[in-house]
Amino acid sequence: MAVAVYPGSFDPVTFGHLDIIRRASLLTERLVVGVLNNSAKSPLFTVDERVEMIREAVKDLPNVEVKSFSGLTVDFAKNEGATAIVRGLRAVTDFEYELQFSQTNRKIMPTVDTIFLTTSLQYAYLSSSIVKEVASYGGDISEFVPGFVAQKITEKIEKKRGN
Ligand code: ADP
Repeated sequence: MAVAVYPGSFDPVTFGHLDIIRRASLLTERLVVGVLNNSAKSPLFTVDERVEMIREAVKDLPNVEVKSFSGLTVDFAKNEGATAIVRGLRAVTDFEYELQFSQTNRKIMPTVDTIFLTTSLQYAYLSSSIVKEVASYGGDISEFVPGFVAQKITEKIEKKRGN
């Protein structure tokens, strides 16, 4: 694969996402991580904050870029010159949604295909929402996200409580 995009909310990025990014970067000449600017969700972090955190976490991977996008994933892929969309599959629960998403995307843009990477077992349970949930109760999230991300989550949660 020459160019692929890896789209998602990444609110915030976890070791599960980073594992997919690293593995996908080995399969592609250029991998563009796309942070979705989705007005329907109310994220903990702004799009710019999410982009910055991923950039920091992938700075050792020379063929990975991080950008934000809004609108259709297939349009983002096309604009980046990508022929593939990378998605991670954790469990059967991801499957139905991902199947529908990939089939719809192929219907809209047949030149872009979806490639699924299955999660590494040690991250199979991991999601951004579970990390936020654990952090909101003061739990230790150091095994789920890089240290600087954990710090930012704690700060955000404290700031929210203060308001
Ligand atoms: P969404 O795109 O549904 O908002 P996320 O931003 O959390 O979800 O995730 C982006 C992509 O990363 C999705 O394909 C998701 O399945 C995958 N992903 C999330 N967590 C993990 C994990 N722990 N292991 C592997 N893939 C994951």
